[in-house]
Amino acid sequence: MKDFKSCIFLMADGARADVFEELLNAGDLPAISRYVVEPGAYRGAVSVFPSTTGPAYTPYVFGKYPGRCNFPGIRWLDRRIYADRRKLFSFRRFRSYIGLETYFMNSDASTDNTSIFEVFPRSGNILNELSRGVKLTNDKTRFSKLYHKVKSHFTDRTDEVDLLARRLLVKELGAMHDFIFTVFLGIDTYSHVNHPFHRDVIDSYRRIDETVDAVASRLKAEGRLDETLFVIISDHGLTQTHSHFDSLGFLNARGYKTFYYPNVFRHFVNADAGSLVSGNAMANIYIKSPDGWGRRSTFAEMKQLVEDFLERPEVDVVAGTDEEGKARIKSARGEATAWIGEDGRVNYRKVSGDPFGYNGMPESMTSREALSASFGTEYPDAAVQIMQLLESPRAGDLVLSARLGYDLRAYHENPEHRSSHGSLARDHMMVPFAISARLTDEPVRTVDVYPTILSLLGRPLPDGLDGIDLSV
Ligand SMILES: [Zn+2]
Repeated sequence: MKDFKSCIFLMADGARADVFEELLNAGDLPAISRYVVEPGAYRGAVSVFPSTTGPAYTPYVFGKYPGRCNFPGIRWLDRRIYADRRKLFSFRRFRSYIGLETYFMNSDASTDNTSIFEVFPRSGNILNELSRGVKLTNDKTRFSKLYHKVKSHFTDRTDEVDLLARRLLVKELGAMHDFIFTVFLGIDTYSHVNHPFHRDVIDSYRRIDETVDAVASRLKAEGRLDETLFVIISDHGLTQTHSHFDSLGFLNARGYKTFYYPNVFRHFVNADAGSLVSGNAMANIYIKSPDGWGRRSTFAEMKQLVEDFLERPEVDVVAGTDEEGKARIKSARGEATAWIGEDGRVNYRKVSGDPFGYNGMPESMTSREALSASFGTEYPDAAVQIMQLLESPRAGDLVLSARLGYDLRAYHENPEHRSSHGSLARDHMMVPFAISARLTDEPVRTVDVYPTILSLLGRPLPDGLDGIDLSV
């Protein structure tokens, strides 16, 4: 095993595994081929649910699933704090990371984990919002990131933001960091306003390749190339969207007083439901239980609502918890119960058909077996991903995964989303993973990246990680 001294971590936000592979095989990512994949490895990896920026970063920053970091979406409602009248003006009643509240991301994530920036005190950060532990001086865009994100969101010049990220990264090479996390926004932003195969999107992949070339050439000139580990990864893929489901209007039409962003004052205290959308192909749906907000509603208590959602063409999978706290998963293909036993094994019991269309999924498996058995399907690792999400006290009473082509937010999105992510579907969940080190052959989850990086840089692994070290 090579002795790496530092790591360059590049987040190609929104990159699809299949598009990345196609460009790689066509020779359109020459620097990534030469400096990363040829000396190292390329894998498709399974991300997390919701497959959305923010939650899908927790595997890389904390080595844990978002549900276990109490980070269930880019928008959420905390039913316990929401209902507590003594906490009417608490800043943790609800959240949207779109806008100024992004500055709460670091303090919202649970603290029973070790941030990669805490593992590497000499670390740098560029355009990444989940940066707990990085020194203020080393977070190169802590204050300017909102400006760059707004520019990227409302103008078509995300190319300039990605070029800025490259300039800052090359400049930071002189600081001799152990670890640098840099985010490139072009693929995600251009996909949202066009589609995932648009030329502006493809150019964004190439721009990342040119960045690898610039960085590797500089390190080579300084004799530091061999001791530097390169990691290129994504957090989710995207698919084109032709229709938007008004999940908010759907709940209001059923008589609910539904809390939603951006108009948080509409039901600031009296909501009995909530529609908090991420991606926008995923939604945390909150339903006040017959006993109030103090507990979750059970799947059985929401039976009619579940059926109503599943009658909608836009809704693919609905999940919640039953009286015993087990996950209940339903789709037009069938229904199942899933839970993790005290022995840590994954239990997957079909009630009727199979909600993911799996063929012969074992009833009891290890977590890695659950990954292997579903890796090549249209819903990779879906059962484990639903269970981890529902462990978050801030997760919805129901979680919705949209059918491809649709998303779950009809209003308040400017510019309109023409592509979406966030669901359990393969095209949202499969991400490219290129690393300049050899790996074992087993299937990869994005939570495996954190322990693999620490191991390759000779750092001990903290307890309680959700992934495994894949280095050989
Ligand atoms: Zn996005």
